Amino acid sequence: MKHRHAHRNGNGKHGESFPHRPRKRFGQNFLHDQNVIERIIAAINPQADDHIVEIGPGQGALTRHLLPACGRLDTIELDRDLAAQLASSIPSTMPSSLQPANAFSIHQGDVLKFDFASLTDKPHSLRVVGNLPYNISTPVIFHLLNYHHLVKDMVFMLQLEVVQRLAAGVGDKSYGRLGLMTQYYCRVEHLFNVPSAAFTPRPKVNSALVKLTPHLVPPVTARDVSCLQNVIRTAFTQRRKTLKNSLKTLITETRLRELGLDVLQRPENLSLSDYVSISDAILPPL
Ligand code: SAM
Repeated sequence: MKHRHAHRNGNGKHGESFPHRPRKRFGQNFLHDQNVIERIIAAINPQADDHIVEIGPGQGALTRHLLPACGRLDTIELDRDLAAQLASSIPSTMPSSLQPANAFSIHQGDVLKFDFASLTDKPHSLRVVGNLPYNISTPVIFHLLNYHHLVKDMVFMLQLEVVQRLAAGVGDKSYGRLGLMTQYYCRVEHLFNVPSAAFTPRPKVNSALVKLTPHLVPPVTARDVSCLQNVIRTAFTQRRKTLKNSLKTLITETRLRELGLDVLQRPENLSLSDYVSISDAILPPL
């Protein structure tokens, strides 16, 4: 997909305020609480040489603080009206050091189709942030995991339940595919919770800030990640079943026992390295 660049000197006067009716289908819950905004910016801790990518800048609540503090800021916004509004209101807040071309860009389009590799080829250089649209937060994280090698870290506002799934450990109620695949690539930190009163309109769910830091040295490596994904997906499709039943289309009970696993356990009792050993075992020998 081709992404439209909204130009910095678009229509409208600098600093002009535009009435915007929040669009539910775009997951628009705007941050208005300045204390919460400052805590998020402090958690991101932008630095002068950072290349930051903000997903869903909306009306610029975070953007305005990030821009003067970093070296380059790319934003990705689906809503054409908000992208245009941002293009005309942000430049007035830009310090002169950020005026050169490329230091600030608005990519109008869908983050799920956005090619993050078009921004850089430098390993672990992108800092991805955003108060994500909750309706697509899980697909956004899976999409970004494809670019883990280019990402330094990610700080996201998410639905609390999704943060709990990301951070879940063996045996936790919310342990599953999202947490396992994210932890395969990243260290996960649940930073703090945010009350729904911090947003306009208020979301119906609780929110939390999470930090994901791609591993420089992965704690465990699968021979084939798509095979690992398939094993995890298959196991958790029937999470109440015992291992020998839920994985029987992929691996025999005998083979599971040979790997030292208790076949009567349920998917939530296996660690990431257990899943990696199953995945490696079902591949043809090297
Ligand atoms: N950053 C702003 C704030 O904190 O006030 C807005 C956050 S709001 C929760 C989510 C933003 O993501 C909205 O601006 C929305 O239009 C945008 N958005 C929704 N779906 C998107 C998509 N698929 N790709 C890019 N942006 C999207």
